[in-house]
Amino acid sequence: MTVSPTASPAGERVTKSFIDGAPVSSAQTYPNIDPSTGATLGEVARAGEAEIDQAVTAARRASRAWRATTPEQRSELLSRLAGLIDAEGETLARLESEDSGKPLSQARNDARVCARYFRFYSHVIESYYGLSIPLRPDLHVYTRREPLGVTGHIVAWNYPMQLFGRAVAPAIATGNCAVLKPADETPRTAVCLARLAAEAGLPPGVVNVVTGLGPEAGAALAAHPGVDHLSFVGSTEVGSLIAGAAARRVVPVTLELGGKSAHLVFADADVERAAATAAAVILQNAGQTCSAGSRLLVHERVHDELLRRIADRFATVSIGPGVADPDLGPLVSRKQQDRVRGYVESARGADIVCGGTVAEPEGIAGGAYFTPTLIDGVDPAAPIAREEIFGPVLTVTTFSTEDEAVALANGTDYALIGAVWTRDLARAHRVAAQVDGGQIYVNTYGAGGGVELPFGGFRKSGYGREKGIEALDAYTATKTIVVQL
Ligand code: NAD
Repeated sequence: MTVSPTASPAGERVTKSFIDGAPVSSAQTYPNIDPSTGATLGEVARAGEAEIDQAVTAARRASRAWRATTPEQRSELLSRLAGLIDAEGETLARLESEDSGKPLSQARNDARVCARYFRFYSHVIESYYGLSIPLRPDLHVYTRREPLGVTGHIVAWNYPMQLFGRAVAPAIATGNCAVLKPADETPRTAVCLARLAAEAGLPPGVVNVVTGLGPEAGAALAAHPGVDHLSFVGSTEVGSLIAGAAARRVVPVTLELGGKSAHLVFADADVERAAATAAAVILQNAGQTCSAGSRLLVHERVHDELLRRIADRFATVSIGPGVADPDLGPLVSRKQQDRVRGYVESARGADIVCGGTVAEPEGIAGGAYFTPTLIDGVDPAAPIAREEIFGPVLTVTTFSTEDEAVALANGTDYALIGAVWTRDLARAHRVAAQVDGGQIYVNTYGAGGGVELPFGGFRKSGYGREKGIEALDAYTATKTIVVQL
């Protein structure tokens, strides 16, 4: 057992940064709050500019040797790290569940997906080639995909392990060295993963994790002149700050931001299947998923049946602490709980079919729970229909024509993913092409971790693509070499 996120050599419960292959303390700490109970899980090092600079300097130093390794060598190390993550999956899942409140079985899946990212990129990096371009017989022209150098990653709290894997695995597979700042609320698995990377044999400085608060450690990473690429997962508001910081230093940035994704349920849909899926995906991680299908657009003919089936499912949901593995855990914080309650209270004039209140599982007073909520008759112009709620709340708007459904689906500033529910194949393809979003599903929703599938948004959901082979392009730049023969 090698994963010990909080125990420092002295045994105190402080989660420290992991920089250049070693734990690093900070002068100040902040408390890590368990959202299931409101109790503290320990302290977290509150790093700032100095630790960020230390990490970027270590990454820069490591990058000289790391970029010279062969794809085979990197592949071997990434694959070894994937094996260690799998071996420590249970411990990692527990830490994730405690930090974020997510049900334990979902956290176990996140650990598996994190390992899968390292395994997937360990495979594909060995067949990631440049081109030979037949320009003229007397010229030998070829391209190389070169690493950018030091990559900075700032991620959200909702899927900490998955976000770590999807950022760090392609970055280091292509020969970059990474500095990651986990979300304030969920630092522990990232620190463990950096330790496991060292244990797998990745040289010091290749994977660094700096804990701390967004406006301090996060802002310092975004502004550091030694960072050659930024990837950000979080809110649109902070994403635009990161893009500004990147623009000032002229470095590329990938932005994975919010969403307000819709299910379009047509009259010929398999309503039971649509209901089961829509209910399951809005409950997953208590609705705190960027790609949550949080809007239900339903044809008037199947409206009543669909809502009845979803309400029946919501009625049987178990609610409790993440580590007890209920159907629905708490939200990540009391702050998030207030935000969700505020949105629901703003939905005056709509019909709250079920839920709509905070919840208090027996014997737990300090948790951030919210009941599964279904709100019908939502005005598409209302904030609750346009803004990201990030809770177990499903809004319903009815349509009568296909054009109307598409207009409703495209009627928010976001465009991340979506789903079309119909038995008409022609309509499925037609609507999938018209709905804006980086991924559109037909008669299903989401693809587990979706490690292999390019992922990203349009409009305010961000730009650039993570996951899949496309991510390798994001972390490299093409150099073209022309040789006169
Ligand atoms: P957030 O923007 O508040 O924070 C995200 C990260 O940015 C955290 O690590 C935070 O510490 C850091 N941060 C905050 N202020 C900063 C600043 N001034 N400078 C630099 N860094 C700063 O978002 P959140 O509330 O943690 O996450 C929820 C949001 O993330 C939602 O909008 C959700 O949709 C989005 N999200 C998107 C995806 C995706 O792939 N598109 C995935 C997960 C979450």
